[in-house]
Amino acid sequence: MTVSEAQLQEAVGRLKNSGVRITPQRHAVLEYLLNAEIHPTADDIYKALEGKFPNMSVATVYNNLRVFREIGLVRELTYGDSSSRFDCNTSDHYHVICDSCGKIVDFHYPRLDEVESLAQKVTGFDVSHHRMELYGTCENCKKATQH
Ligand SMILES: [Zn+2]
Ligand SMILES: [Zn+2]
Repeated sequence: MTVSEAQLQEAVGRLKNSGVRITPQRHAVLEYLLNAEIHPTADDIYKALEGKFPNMSVATVYNNLRVFREIGLVRELTYGDSSSRFDCNTSDHYHVICDSCGKIVDFHYPRLDEVESLAQKVTGFDVSHHRMELYGTCENCKKATQH
């Protein structure tokens, strides 16, 4: 799947409206992120783009990701000790995670609002959000073990 030019333009428009300067590197990071289905880490993005931008560092990538996160273009997913992954789908969705390669795939399912209201009732918490993750083996890794 490739992202539509319209989606990229919309994201660039949001950056401009927030007063963020669009450098070629920033544009490339954004484009990569919008096209990536795996929810890449900063390292993944760096490796994918270092050939094109030899002067770019992982710190630059982090910097750009922070800017994108602050204006709500990406969501940062943290998983304990492993490095953060970045998701440019900021609508409600769930994730399926591969135990072998760590890839994260979006998964659409109606929001589990009842779980939140039940948890709220039972515990007295003000529940703000929830995360649901399913784990397993992705198609690629399944194929790899079948040989
Ligand atoms: Zn996998
Ligand atoms: Zn996602």
